[in-house]
Amino acid sequence: MTPCPRVRASRKLSGVSYSLRGPLAAQAERMRAAGEDVLALNLGDPAAYGLPPAREVVQAVREHLDHSCGYSAAAGLPEARDAVARHYRDKGLDTVRSCDVYLGNGVSELAPLSLHALLDPLDQVLIPAPDYPMWTASVVMAGGRPVHYPCDEASDWCPDPADIARRVTDRTRAIVVINPNNPTGAVWPRGILDGIADIARRRGLVLLADEIYADFLYDGTSHTPLATCAPDVPCLTFGGLSKRSRIPGYRMGWLALTGCRGPASDYVAALETLASLRLCPNVPAQRAVETALRVDDTRALTAPGGALRLRRDHLWHLLADVPGVRAVKPHGAFYVFPRVMPGHYRPSDDESLAADLLHEERLFVVPGSGLGPVRPGHLRMVTLPPPHILTEAVARLARFLDRRSTTRPSTPNQDRPQRLCRRPCEERRPPP
Ligand code: PLP
Repeated sequence: MTPCPRVRASRKLSGVSYSLRGPLAAQAERMRAAGEDVLALNLGDPAAYGLPPAREVVQAVREHLDHSCGYSAAAGLPEARDAVARHYRDKGLDTVRSCDVYLGNGVSELAPLSLHALLDPLDQVLIPAPDYPMWTASVVMAGGRPVHYPCDEASDWCPDPADIARRVTDRTRAIVVINPNNPTGAVWPRGILDGIADIARRRGLVLLADEIYADFLYDGTSHTPLATCAPDVPCLTFGGLSKRSRIPGYRMGWLALTGCRGPASDYVAALETLASLRLCPNVPAQRAVETALRVDDTRALTAPGGALRLRRDHLWHLLADVPGVRAVKPHGAFYVFPRVMPGHYRPSDDESLAADLLHEERLFVVPGSGLGPVRPGHLRMVTLPPPHILTEAVARLARFLDRRSTTRPSTPNQDRPQRLCRRPCEERRPPP
């Protein structure tokens, strides 16, 4: 028998990866299946950490299952699109009508769709570093070139609009903004967003605003929708129910267009074609949209005393007591992006650090280098698990670093990490 010829994978995918579900995740899964007690702090899924969705949201889907068997319109059910449009008008995006809303099977479907409709080969897209890796991968898959703009840890993980402006070329087509941010938990203030909107306006770029964590805010931080800074600039605002309503398994997201009438009409027509090609989004999940946007229970979780606020505080305080670890306090989303400082682990590349943590301590966290070009030593952890899990996770990290540390403090806590925080007074308060 002649041997089967090798099946070559598409070259388009070279360089495309998704670290959150890569080989390390597979290894963690194998260890779990073999009965090992792996603590996983990798998954941005509240339901997986004992934070179930509101009953009404699940009920809304259940009640409509019998008449959700057929396809819907390609852009989604009118009542669901209408609910999303109302939601954004309430947030100050005055022009959004239901015809400006496209529903999809999560932002993960709509982000690539928006890029496929926009990019020609080698067109460039500006993406924050670190980033949620779906954006970088989606640009590559759409034939474009991701160009990362750095977010500065020392500036609460905010970018510098002047630096972004310097990276714009004749091939740049769009700027991605992820706010509140995954993986840093930063919430960029209005001044930065105005600066980014201004670059898009001057250079004729499209704004792609991933605001899926817009409802996850702590410490009185407010969130400015990017589209409100640029009503005259084509802007796609992405959101969905995966985080807000804690139903990522249902796969429901959307994009809302602003500033797109007139000069962007060809782009909108291309979006419509691609939306039609996938026939329609998951119809049962669309039934949840109206109810989910009415039931707003996220605030109760993020307010002082709420489960998410307590967990964020708990993890951040625990990390601040681990020698050699520094973390900026996250004011949004549900991630923290600490850095193990050089000398506290060798080799200092975070991929080996994460792999060794998994093998030696059965702790699974995401290495920072899987989230775009950032300084070595970062790890992404979710703040979602209950306090006892977070305590155990950080104890494992501390034990590991204590074993591996190449610098021993001469007095206890001599190199206690500096807490990097925008609110120096608040950080000294004990957790509630
Ligand atoms: N955007 C960001 C910043 C995310 O963190 C995630 C998921 O973690 C997504 C998009 C994907 O969301 P969806 O479940 O709607 O596909």
